[in-house]
Amino acid sequence: MRILVVGGGTGGTIVANNLARRLAPEIRAHKASITLLSASDRHMYQPGLLYVAFGQMMPDELYRDQASLLETCIDFHVDPVEQFQIDQNKVKTESGKIHEYDVLVIATGSRTMSRKIPGLTEGAETFYTEEGAVKMFKKLRDFEGGKVSIVVGVPHKCPIAPVEVTFSLHDYFKARGIRDKVEIKYNYPINRIHSIENVAKWAKPEFDRMGIKYETLFNVEEVDVENKVVKSMEGSEDHYDLLISIPEHHGMEVIEKNDLGQDGWIPTDRYQLTMEGHDNVYVVGDTTNLPVSKTGSAAHFEAEVIAENIASIVKIGTPVSEYDGKVYCFIEAGHDKATYANFNYLTPPDLKAANKSMHWFKMSYNKMYWTSVRGLL
Ligand SMILES: Cc1cc2nc3c(=O)[nH]c(=O)nc-3n(C[C@H](O)[C@H](O)[C@H](O)COP(=O)(O)OP(=O)(O)OC[C@H]3O[C@@H](n4cnc5c(N)ncnc54)[C@H](O)[C@@H]3O)c2cc1C
Repeated sequence: MRILVVGGGTGGTIVANNLARRLAPEIRAHKASITLLSASDRHMYQPGLLYVAFGQMMPDELYRDQASLLETCIDFHVDPVEQFQIDQNKVKTESGKIHEYDVLVIATGSRTMSRKIPGLTEGAETFYTEEGAVKMFKKLRDFEGGKVSIVVGVPHKCPIAPVEVTFSLHDYFKARGIRDKVEIKYNYPINRIHSIENVAKWAKPEFDRMGIKYETLFNVEEVDVENKVVKSMEGSEDHYDLLISIPEHHGMEVIEKNDLGQDGWIPTDRYQLTMEGHDNVYVVGDTTNLPVSKTGSAAHFEAEVIAENIASIVKIGTPVSEYDGKVYCFIEAGHDKATYANFNYLTPPDLKAANKSMHWFKMSYNKMYWTSVRGLL
């Protein structure tokens, strides 16, 4: 069986490595092969960008060579896919090469869409890219006082990031001894301060305790960069001195261009993780249209189910596992404490008070990621 994985981020790398181990005998016997096509020879640990934005990590700490993370039997090429010819079981890459497959796994991730909002790219800092995170840190260092506003577009990857960056801003200015000179205002698009109800319930009293102001039902319409005002579709205006944005995301352009899903989100069976109408095409991570958080954690749990099912199809001709919507997110509640949210399709998270041990667990996970993405954890 020819297995083709497109995308070498969290989801694609875990699927490929997990399959390589499960199918080692079949690969040795030339009964199965795994090819991975990606857009980069480097792999970024994206959650580390939050720490770069506060000067706590250097950008080069976030990268490893992609090839070094892969089992040696995986045939890896940096050659992005340009065309998906799903009905003919093949893809065409930028270099013009055609790859035929029996099973395809799409793991191309997502991208920020700041440019959809007039003024947002020029007017706001965002830590969702390496350059953006470094620039944000420089702006924070130069900031001596005034109003910092946070705005959020939906959907976006890492739904926890808006509250994490807000808590981190509080601790950052406190550590610099200027918290009393800084007003922090959090703006959120729906009618509570977080999309996950129990996260909203937990974060609200924390915001109150830290003197963080918030406005709900605030969907950004435009940013007036000259006058430093962000306007919402609901008609309100927020004056800022420093604006921080968690922008709306789409799936990758290649998904949109090949009509695989609106806004780049591929219609995906929520239990089997196959593309709707295509039993030999699996979808993992951010690019699914599933009603779960777009996180590395969801990508990881999905990847394990996909690898288990592809391997069982090779071995016994049928899938054996289903994805239950599992997500496990650490939540940094500032610079020295954290909590977590563990949930699935049926069971909402039950948040505990933040503590130092969870923060250190998260700091350890930042290093353990490299073991985890190799499919060993
Ligand atoms: C600031 C920030 C903080 C975050 N914090 C957390 C957190 O605390 N916890 C958590 O669980 N998650 C967090 N995330 C989210 C997490 O990083 C993503 O959800 C996760 O990486 C998604 O995995 P993925 O495999 O779907 O996509 P990605 O990891 O983004 O990988 C996509 C891959 O596809 C490749 N690709 C793109 N186009 C093509 C193409 N045409 N052909 C071939 N390959 C292609 C890319 O090169 C890349 O290798 C955070 C993200 C950010 C930005």
